[in-house]
Amino acid sequence: MKNFKSDDKTSNRPSDTITTHVARYENMLPVGDPAYYFTNSEKSATTCERFWFYEYSRGYHTDGVGTSLTYGVILHRLLEDILSVVQEYNIPHCLPLLDDCYKILSANLHDYIEEQQEHINEYDANFESELLLRLTNSLQGWHDNFSKILEEWDIVAVELPIYKDVTLSTGETTASFNTVYLPTSTGGLTRLAQLGEANNMQGFYEIVLNESDYDLMGYTDDIDLRLDLDKIEMRKIELPVRFLGKIDVLLQHKEDEKRLAVLDHKTTASCDRYESRARYDTQLPTYASVVNSMIKQGKLNTVPEGAKVDTLIYDLISNKIGAAPTPLKSGKLSSRVSCPSYLFEEAIESLKLEKKDYTEKLEELRDNDSKFFRTIERDFLSDDDFVIRSEIAATADFLVDKHQKLSATNNASRSNIYRHVRRNSGQCDRFGRCKFSAICLANNTKSAILKTRSKIYWTHN
Ligand code: SF4
Repeated sequence: MKNFKSDDKTSNRPSDTITTHVARYENMLPVGDPAYYFTNSEKSATTCERFWFYEYSRGYHTDGVGTSLTYGVILHRLLEDILSVVQEYNIPHCLPLLDDCYKILSANLHDYIEEQQEHINEYDANFESELLLRLTNSLQGWHDNFSKILEEWDIVAVELPIYKDVTLSTGETTASFNTVYLPTSTGGLTRLAQLGEANNMQGFYEIVLNESDYDLMGYTDDIDLRLDLDKIEMRKIELPVRFLGKIDVLLQHKEDEKRLAVLDHKTTASCDRYESRARYDTQLPTYASVVNSMIKQGKLNTVPEGAKVDTLIYDLISNKIGAAPTPLKSGKLSSRVSCPSYLFEEAIESLKLEKKDYTEKLEELRDNDSKFFRTIERDFLSDDDFVIRSEIAATADFLVDKHQKLSATNNASRSNIYRHVRRNSGQCDRFGRCKFSAICLANNTKSAILKTRSKIYWTHN
């Protein structure tokens, strides 16, 4: 049996020497504080307990992400850099010139791709140039659309980390998690804290499922060990449970400084479909609620006292923007082309064609531009705030309960673990042909499942 101890106040390993690491939130306050953080993505993943288990508890990773997802992530990074210029130079009401946006794109694209490299399994030599072309074709449409948003709103913050301590149904704001300490004899690594339960919230270590039991195995270059779990000292420590998020843009109304909006950039295959589903979105309402509670608690001093988020803005960008039209054999442009109007206009100019010959086509394309770029605004009311606060608390309850149940199965068989994480097969399609179907469902082709570092892990200072 493993050796569990309750938190020992005389220990030379107090819980406050623990540092939390959360993917995508590195170096952002308050991440680093000893806490159990969960994000909106984790909250959404709980729709299927099994999906949550693979993604967040096991930290499984499947074959590379699709190119449309890569495109979305890289476009997002580009917009973050463009808007950071606004913040850096404190010009909250206008964007950099379009030409400067193109410069930011060409100067950084390679770095953006490098950042995503580990998620992209295979791409050919044309990947970067194709991506450059797609992003270049999108920029003007996004720039025009976002400039209209800035006619009504000013930018307060870009990529703003937000957080909130969550009260559990027990009335507590902390929960106990097991910690694994490694023996000092492991060479250099004197000890590592591993929170959550031993087997299900791995930090640097991978738990390998054997027929009858678990082993703990290091999997990074600098760790090469296998340990008998019986010899690992475990103790329980208390951690605050916190929701964590990052807002793309926080906006303030030009005519009423107490009115705020949270904005998220969204790439989508269909703006129409996104708009029809936007009312089911829980991400932006969640962020709005957390911002409002931070303001109430005086944790957001960049906005005036009494300010409140009352608007949600979805900045939609189609990921299906084709290339600028090319001429037919006749030298003219086809009237059947579908692209943003500015790409068609550029083609007219570069081919030195007569603009008046395309008046009708240009009008048709302008009417159609909202197919590619669109802004959706939704109200965020006090009643919404109440519903979301309850939902965040219910998710915290779920996560703490699951982790605690799973930790009780340290030495149990796989079937015992799966008893705690039920499948919700109704979600398999919703997650875009779920990436875990190979290990979760019987009638799927088996594919590689990789173990990666968990999205959240803890170390001792
Ligand atoms: S395949 Fe279906 S049931 Fe299994 S994890 Fe994915 S969504 Fe859940």
